[in-house]
Amino acid sequence: MPIINSISNIKKEMQEWRRYLHENPELGFEEYNTSKFIVKKLNEFGIKAFQNIGKTGVVGVLKGSKKGDGSIGLRADMDALEMPEENNFEHKSKSKDKMHACGHDGHMAMLLGAAKYLSETKNFGGTVYFIFQPAEEGLGGGKVMVEEGLFQEFPMQTVWGMHNWPGLDVGKAAIHFGPVMASADTFKITIIGKGGHAAIPHLTHDPVPVSASIISGLQTLVSRNINPVNSAVVSVTMIRAGTASNVIPDEVEMRGTCRTLHQQDREKLENGIKNISKSIAQASGLDAEIDYFQGYPSTENTIKEANEACEIVEDVMGVNAVEKNIPPSMASEDFSYMLKEKPGAYIWLGAGNPGEGKMLHNSCYDFNDEILPIGASYWSRLVEIKLS
Ligand SMILES: [Zn+2]
Ligand SMILES: [Zn+2]
Repeated sequence: MPIINSISNIKKEMQEWRRYLHENPELGFEEYNTSKFIVKKLNEFGIKAFQNIGKTGVVGVLKGSKKGDGSIGLRADMDALEMPEENNFEHKSKSKDKMHACGHDGHMAMLLGAAKYLSETKNFGGTVYFIFQPAEEGLGGGKVMVEEGLFQEFPMQTVWGMHNWPGLDVGKAAIHFGPVMASADTFKITIIGKGGHAAIPHLTHDPVPVSASIISGLQTLVSRNINPVNSAVVSVTMIRAGTASNVIPDEVEMRGTCRTLHQQDREKLENGIKNISKSIAQASGLDAEIDYFQGYPSTENTIKEANEACEIVEDVMGVNAVEKNIPPSMASEDFSYMLKEKPGAYIWLGAGNPGEGKMLHNSCYDFNDEILPIGASYWSRLVEIKLS
């Protein structure tokens, strides 16, 4: 079955919702108007909506008309980014420093489109949960929803996610068997020495050359500790020390980021950063304090559900629609917290060539409305087939 006809027929309506949301962006955990809009739409479709899960999150619950007790969760993210929009079209952001530059406006519109279709047809057995998740962009709304009992209050067997993917052709979807997106951690290393006159270094414990040794040491972490067929990144991105050219500072502070696709690599790098920094500092008679902050874990699809996602994509978009060999992204995604609890798959939906400089998080980006019926059909068929 290709794109569902009655979903194609509501493309204009989905586009209106999408553009309304684009014009009215809200940041993480502040999606008050957005959640009001979603609840209003779900209620119009006759779907019961539960609010305030993860502060501004919304979950819609719909039962099918066929026999069955299966359950499935479909997730869309809701938040915008703190940045000015440089587009000049009619649905440009009304806020001067907030913008839907990651397409979460489109994600919500596609899930609402599926909700509308499924509420009219109910051609499935069991329960579908429409999860509208706040605060994907750094604040971990996915984690908060899980902590606040998403899966206890709405017991679902599997959970599914989707992100529009500029650069991948319209009509294609990329599906990964395992990791899709990386974990994203940050660290702060403080090298504690003893400052003094730059011309009398032997009476100081100079942290500056020690910081250089630590940076070099950290470069061996990925190259010597991680299986070369896995991907990982350690980047020192900030160094702060000193006030004058003739003063050796007491301390050097360094910050950076650490990304991996596998949990065991993440642990190796965390331990490695601590050991290398501490050991090198101590070898020079100084000390180092390391603060390691765990961000989003890696987003990992389960194999069975990744295979099922392929079947649905082929059903909706055609036999050659699935791209299975696109490398994972080293960006991160808090749908990972849901996939840590439940089996499921997160797919990239081709959004076509966005044009020069119009990728995600760019001030000239705009969600491609052509893919609204594709995404909504994918969601709908996923429910109809999984809960048939
Ligand atoms: Zn984003
Ligand atoms: Zn996004």
